[in-house]
Amino acid sequence: KNFENASFKDFENVPEMDMYQRAKLFDKYLDYLLDNNHLNYRLETSTGCGPELKIRIPGKSGFQDVYGFVSNDYLGFTQHPKIKKSIISAIEKYGCGSAASPAIGGHFVYHQLLEDKVAKFFNKNAAIIYNTGYTANSATFQCLLQKEDLAILDMAVHASIYEGCQLTNVKTFLHNNLEMLERVLKNSMGKFRTRMVIVDGVYSQDGDVAPLKEILKLTKQYNAYLAVDDAHGIGVLGENGKGAIEYFDVFDEIDIIIGTFSKALGNLGGFVLGSPELIRFLKYQSKQHLFSTTSTPSILGTVRALELIDEEPEWRSKLWNNINYFKNGLNSMGLTVGNTCSAVVPVKIGNIQKTLEAGKLLLNNGIYANPIMYPAVSKKDARIRFNIMATHEFHHIDKVLNTWDTIKKKIFLLN
Ligand code: PMP
Repeated sequence: KNFENASFKDFENVPEMDMYQRAKLFDKYLDYLLDNNHLNYRLETSTGCGPELKIRIPGKSGFQDVYGFVSNDYLGFTQHPKIKKSIISAIEKYGCGSAASPAIGGHFVYHQLLEDKVAKFFNKNAAIIYNTGYTANSATFQCLLQKEDLAILDMAVHASIYEGCQLTNVKTFLHNNLEMLERVLKNSMGKFRTRMVIVDGVYSQDGDVAPLKEILKLTKQYNAYLAVDDAHGIGVLGENGKGAIEYFDVFDEIDIIIGTFSKALGNLGGFVLGSPELIRFLKYQSKQHLFSTTSTPSILGTVRALELIDEEPEWRSKLWNNINYFKNGLNSMGLTVGNTCSAVVPVKIGNIQKTLEAGKLLLNNGIYANPIMYPAVSKKDARIRFNIMATHEFHHIDKVLNTWDTIKKKIFLLN
């Protein structure tokens, strides 16, 4: 097999191979990537989530110093002293784990506190928490949509949403293409029990937003529900950091809002907001919640993080100063960043080989950012994705801009 044009997706299923044969072939592919310095998955980091990291590349010995642009710690809350303190005192008070699922006795006062806090933060009546944002998505849609129903997905939604929709009918529309969405809504009228449009608030590869006002208008017009996963918007967008829902001022009209505690909030876990009946339904019907051990007491750090979004808006201002500084610098060099309006800033290259080469050159210059390519994005839309944080300083960003300036000629001249 020629590995040159292969991607991870090719190994998901090879019909003629059993699991050991497939794993063996994949092993060879990983070696090929390593030999060609193209293995950019699972780099090991020996520091926290700050802007300056020590990382080790798979297959290499020793750690190297880099400036990191790969973290979703947008507000720097993984390192916030007040959040650390609240986590330490939660552990001292309640211990390290929760040791049971809600079905068995694993619902603790700190879970209830967080559920109440999340609901209040978004001015809603009810919330359910899950152990990750991934589970929140996969569990919710699996629980709410069956074979009689239809999920209408923007093609670029997160993998966890696709997973949640495996038991229902799925139709996709091209990313942010409202005409196509309208066509799907029109053509599916009267053919399904429940129709739910599912979009991300902020898209994780392009950093652009879903036009929620227009989407909402369509879902109302065609009598469908709307669910929004705002993993990358919460803490970043909106005057008060409440995410894309606040940015578009559509707070009261979305049927289901899903989010994560593991990006701007600096912790781990996910949540769902909806009508009190829907949330109660999920609490007693979604197996990923009912039969899985609940989050640890350190989740109380998220309660503090939600307070700090209100109390310390300066983190959000610092983040936006950094984002704008970076985008202006890239634009003035003629580099293309697409429609981003969040902390995710892609430098679009297109060609996969050039993108891998750019990733390697950046790393050689002490900059760690992720090359993103097929299947995460289409084959001709490869890019290097930079995640900006409030804790970056201008000198970190200057280093990236200066490096792009020196490598861009090299990259774009590559065949
Ligand atoms: N939704 C989106 C849009 C995401 O980017 C991610 C994280 N990659 C998730 C959901 C999953 O969240 P978590 O990492 O908390 O499982």
